[in-house]
Amino acid sequence: MDSFNSALKILKMGAKHLNLSNGLLQHLSTAQRSIKLSFPLKKDSGDLEIIKGYRVQHNNVLGPYKGGLRFHQQVDMDEVKLLAFLMMIKNAVVDIPFGGGKGGLEIDPKKYSEKELERMTRQFTRELLPNIGPKLDVPAPDVNTNSKIMDWIADEYIKNLKTNNLSKLKAVVTGKSVENGGSLGREQATGLGGFFVLEKLVGKLKMKKPLTVALQGFGNVGSNMASILHDNGYKIVAVSDVKGGIYDSSFKGFNIDLVKECRLEKGFLAGCYCIGSVCDLAKKYDQGIISNEELLELPVDILIPAALENVITAGNATKIKAKLIFEMANGPTTPQADKILGSRKILVFPDVCANAGGVTVSYFEWLQNMTNQKWSLQKVNQKLKEKMEKAFANIWQISQDKKVSLRLASYILALKRLIKKTKF
Ligand code: NAD
Repeated sequence: MDSFNSALKILKMGAKHLNLSNGLLQHLSTAQRSIKLSFPLKKDSGDLEIIKGYRVQHNNVLGPYKGGLRFHQQVDMDEVKLLAFLMMIKNAVVDIPFGGGKGGLEIDPKKYSEKELERMTRQFTRELLPNIGPKLDVPAPDVNTNSKIMDWIADEYIKNLKTNNLSKLKAVVTGKSVENGGSLGREQATGLGGFFVLEKLVGKLKMKKPLTVALQGFGNVGSNMASILHDNGYKIVAVSDVKGGIYDSSFKGFNIDLVKECRLEKGFLAGCYCIGSVCDLAKKYDQGIISNEELLELPVDILIPAALENVITAGNATKIKAKLIFEMANGPTTPQADKILGSRKILVFPDVCANAGGVTVSYFEWLQNMTNQKWSLQKVNQKLKEKMEKAFANIWQISQDKKVSLRLASYILALKRLIKKTKF
C-alpha cells in the first residue's frame, strides 16, 4: 500500500503543475473496480485446492482496461492495485487508447504441473468472463505468464461466448502465440522498446559506448533486453534470476548466446515457465557468482532492474554505483530510494516509459485482431520505435522545461492526456 500511496504522491505533484482540481485528482487516484475471487482447482492427485485471483480495473478514460496477469506467490490486492494504476499512466505516456488494469493469481507456478496450470487459467478466465472482453478489459502476459497461457485464455473466452467472430474475440487478450492471433514482435517488444528509449537517453546524456550494464531478471524482459543491448555495442557484465546471478569481473561482457544456451538447458516446466535460470552458468563457464543484492551495487554505467518491484530501497540506494538506472521492471525503485538517488545525481529513467514497449505492441496486436490484419515484423518494430521515441522526446522536454525529474515529467505527460479525455 505504501508504494501505491507513493505513486499517488507523484500524481499529486503532477496535478499541481497542471492546476488540476482535487475532484479530478481523486477520480484518477481511485480504482474503478477491484475484483478478488477464489475458486477450487482440481489437482492431478484429485485433491482440491483453493486458488486466489485478482483483477483491478483502475481507469478506462482512454479505452479498455489493459494490463498483464501475473502468476506469483506475492500477488495480492495491494500489488495489483499499484500495477493497475501504473498501467493507466504508462498507456497515457505512450499515447495508446487503453486504460489501466492488472491482475494475477497468488500461486507459485513451479509447484504445479502444466495440466494444473492450464485448468486454473481456464477457470480464472471463466470467473472473469463478465469483466473482460476486447472492448472492456484486455489482459496480457507478465511475470510467469506467457503466450501459451494467453492462448488458453483466448480459447476459453471464445468457447464460453459461443460465437463465430474469432478474429475480434481473440483480441480479449494480447501476447498470444503468433499462430493464435498474436503479433509478430510481441515477445521482444518490451526489451526492444526499452532499447529504443535507452539509445535516445544515452545520446542526450552524452554517454559513450561501450557502456557496461548489470541486468537483474532474465525472463521475457531481461533476456530479450540483454540480447538487443549485446548486439548493439553494450557490455552486459552481470545478469541474474531469482536464484542469483553471474558477474564477469573482467568487464569484457558476456556472450549472451552462451547465457541463453545454458538457460535453455536448465529450462523447466515443459519449457513453458521460468526458462530464465542462469544459476548454474557460473560453474559451467567459469564466471563469478553473485547475489541479486550484490548485482545492484556493481560499478557499472547502467543498472537495469528487470525482475520485481521494490528492489532498490533506502537500504541500498546509498551503495549503488551505476550512473544511470533504467527501470525495465515495474516499480523497482522505492520513493525513498528515488530521493536518495536524486541527491546522489544518479539518474533514474522511469518504468512507465522504459518498459512500455510491451503494451504498445499489445495494442498493435489488438488492432490487428480487431481489423483482421497481419502486420509484418518490420512494420511492428518501426511503429514501436516511433511511439517509444516520441514518448521519450515528450518526457525529456517536459523535464527540461519544468525542471522536474523524468518520473514526474512522465506523470505530467500522462495527466495531460487523461484530463483531455475525462468527461463528467
Ligand atoms: P518473467 O517471469 O518472464 O521473468 C522474471 C525474471 O525475474 C525471471 O528471470 C526470474 O527468475 C526473475 N526473478 C523473479 N523473482 C526475482 C527476485 N526476487 N530477484 C531476482 N530476480 C527475480 O517476467 P517478465 O515478463 O520478464 O517481467 C519482468 C518485469 O518486467 C516485471 O516487473 C514486469 O511487470 C515487467 N514488465 C513486463 C512486461 C512484459 O511484456 N512481459 C512489460 C512491461 C513490464
